[in-house]
Amino acid sequence: MTEKTQQIFGKENPSAKPLFGLLPEELRALVESMGLKKYRAVQIAEALYRQHVTTLDAISVLPQALREELAAAGYCVGLPEIIQTALSVDGTERYLIQLADSETVETVWMPEGDGGERGDGSEAAMEEEAADGLEGNTSEFEPRRDMRNTGALELAGYRRATLCISSQVGCAVNCQFCLTAKLGIRRNLTAGEIAGQVVAVMNRQGIRIGKDRINLVFMGMGEPFLNYDELMKSVHLLAGSIGIPESRMTVSTSGVLPSILRFAAEPVRPKLALSLNASNDAVREQIMPITKKWNIGQLLDALKTIPLGKREWITFEYVLLGGVNDQPRHARELLELLKGIRSKVNLIVWNPGPGIDFRQPNPEDVAVFQKMLIAGGMSAYMRRPRGRDIYAACGQLKRTVESDTPLVGIQA
Ligand code: SAH
Ligand code: SF4
Repeated sequence: MTEKTQQIFGKENPSAKPLFGLLPEELRALVESMGLKKYRAVQIAEALYRQHVTTLDAISVLPQALREELAAAGYCVGLPEIIQTALSVDGTERYLIQLADSETVETVWMPEGDGGERGDGSEAAMEEEAADGLEGNTSEFEPRRDMRNTGALELAGYRRATLCISSQVGCAVNCQFCLTAKLGIRRNLTAGEIAGQVVAVMNRQGIRIGKDRINLVFMGMGEPFLNYDELMKSVHLLAGSIGIPESRMTVSTSGVLPSILRFAAEPVRPKLALSLNASNDAVREQIMPITKKWNIGQLLDALKTIPLGKREWITFEYVLLGGVNDQPRHARELLELLKGIRSKVNLIVWNPGPGIDFRQPNPEDVAVFQKMLIAGGMSAYMRRPRGRDIYAACGQLKRTVESDTPLVGIQA
């Protein structure tokens, strides 16, 4: 490497323009604008999205002079960087990921997933149920088999995991039970930053596309449907260029009505989960102020416009908050509410966080709630709480740097 190249290539310049995140047609336009042949765009896309390079210099298929030209024109790879790792006793890993402007988001790696996919009819669900040895509904109080399964799958030659990714730095929605809400909204992530979290973690975990089974859930920090365009662009990158099919992705929304309607018309779309969390508007308004803008009835009507595939269900997430929404009358109301919608319910026991004034539900109430839904003909599953000890579970994501909670097991 020449001295000049070394200067250009050193640590990536934070103000450089990232190539990672450009769609194939955008890369083509870029190389053409530089007077280069079209096939260079294919080579760059291959390096970014298949080989997962982290620096321009690693795109070895390009002549050195061309790599220098790209750097001199102000481009970099621009993959977000994992700067901190916390490992849970249950195998979950939480990553602090740094973006070019030094903002950070959190991403969570759950070997064996958290049960969120069970019962939604997808291939990921079948795998999850098979690995669990389950045929029907289950509760979080059953004995855990994760570690054994991880080993078994590795022996079978592949790994299965769910990756929970962020769509915004912070969140504007202000759900009263969620730690991310405490941050407020700082900014939207770009498509490259959303898809980049996936590639950064794949690099770390040595994931092989086409072999390992990776499911993606857009359930990290932020409200994906308030960053709709970049979210959908990231879905196209992940499905079209990185090689994770949209049928293995689930987007979770707190209920942004205009985006649900747009989503219904998408030719390529992930599965959808609505964070319902209440069985009537009065309770939902208290815990999710967004309900004042779009109420439950309006949201359910919008969901009905989504053309569901043969084996597709809409998932409703329901965080059980002790004494607030976890009583038998709520279960009855919920059954009534979801009548006629092809739905499954994922029950999540509320994960506590500092400064949040709720209490966890009693285990007996949880069991009764789930039983009542099942008896009423609903598919109702418990999401396994993953990584609670490291604040990696649902609603516990907050930028670690600002967290007042000490981290367990930081590996840096
Ligand atoms: N903003 C989107 C996606 C991120 S939140 C949404 O709200 O759907 C992902 C899930 O975590 C949502 O279903 C939300 O209701 C749930 N959640 C938030 N805080 C939680 C907490 N403290 N304990 C358990 N689940 C929580
Ligand atoms: Fe935002 Fe989702 Fe948390 Fe609500 S639950 S504040 S929408 S991240």
